[in-house]
Amino acid sequence: MSTIPTALHRKRPVFSVEFFPPKDDAGGQRILETAKAILPYQPDFVSITYGAGGGTRETTMRYARLLQDDYNFEVMPHLTCVGHTVDELLEILKDFDRAGFRNIMALRGDPPKGEKVFKPTEGGLSHASDLVELIRQNFPAFGIGVGGYPEKHPEAVNESTDLAHLKTKMDAGADFITTQLFFDNQAYFDFVQSCRSVGINKPVLPGLLPVLSLGQVQRFCKMCEATLPSSLERRLTEAEDENQPLVGSEWAAMQIRQLLEEGAPGYHIYALNKPQSTLQILDYLGIEKSAA
Ligand SMILES: Cc1cc2nc3c(=O)[nH]c(=O)nc-3n(C[C@H](O)[C@H](O)[C@H](O)COP(=O)(O)OP(=O)(O)OC[C@H]3O[C@@H](n4cnc5c(N)ncnc54)[C@H](O)[C@@H]3O)c2cc1C
Repeated sequence: MSTIPTALHRKRPVFSVEFFPPKDDAGGQRILETAKAILPYQPDFVSITYGAGGGTRETTMRYARLLQDDYNFEVMPHLTCVGHTVDELLEILKDFDRAGFRNIMALRGDPPKGEKVFKPTEGGLSHASDLVELIRQNFPAFGIGVGGYPEKHPEAVNESTDLAHLKTKMDAGADFITTQLFFDNQAYFDFVQSCRSVGINKPVLPGLLPVLSLGQVQRFCKMCEATLPSSLERRLTEAEDENQPLVGSEWAAMQIRQLLEEGAPGYHIYALNKPQSTLQILDYLGIEKSAA
């Protein structure tokens, strides 16, 4: 069966959804309800984060398996270097391989809460490129995705060094890039052009966040150093609280339409374990449930 990189080259547009491992039983219900609601639309793959927001190795594995085995999704678990030695990373990769996953999103990860600077674990890895290299050398059949930052990674001194580091990840063997969220498509178009100009020719899958409220998007933009377009901010400000998710879905659908028209290979939705906005976006895009 094909892996995500094959799908990205063969089929346009690819549609994917990102989940995060829940912290408790109520969260577990939400992720599974979201999976059930999205299943009929048959995303090409779903991904599940690792460590972000307090998730653990066990919960990522548990829910990745549930999504694969019970819902039959093509699942791409994420993996970060945070808190792991190389031996532990190899052990986790072996578990992923045994469980039947064929793709990994390879990340460095953020510093633990309260810490500003990423410090590698003793015997661990410093950069996502090291993890890509480790995977390529030991599990050459995995499809490997990496993160890319249209508006620059917050720690990077400038865009060109960030791009040079991204090139290192690609040269280490990554197959595709999924981007950090952005709300102004020009940031994506400029980023893809910059990638191509330094010889990064792999697919760049745009990551889209369905905005739920003005407060939420302001927090995310601050955290990721993403631009909040004034027209989106105005629409959210003018909308009643209960209508803000609709404004967010409409904006994301508008972004996706333009991205696809301009040649993006697909779209990746940060669903935040909530189905409504993702379903609303698919409805705006005219995507129908599959008959299968
Ligand atoms: C699509 C996507 C999915 C994500 N999923 C998760 C997740 O599941 N769990 C989670 O914890 N976080 C996740 N994140 C967040 C991510 O872990 C953070 O953004 C983290 O700060 C950087 O990870 P990275 O893989 O991009 O790191 P890297 O590619 O290693 O880059 C991190 C920083 O180091 C710099 N750098 C890279 N290589 C070098 C080098 N050789 N020398 C000097 N500097 C270098 C880069 O320019 C950048 O500023 C995700 C991000 C994205 C875009």
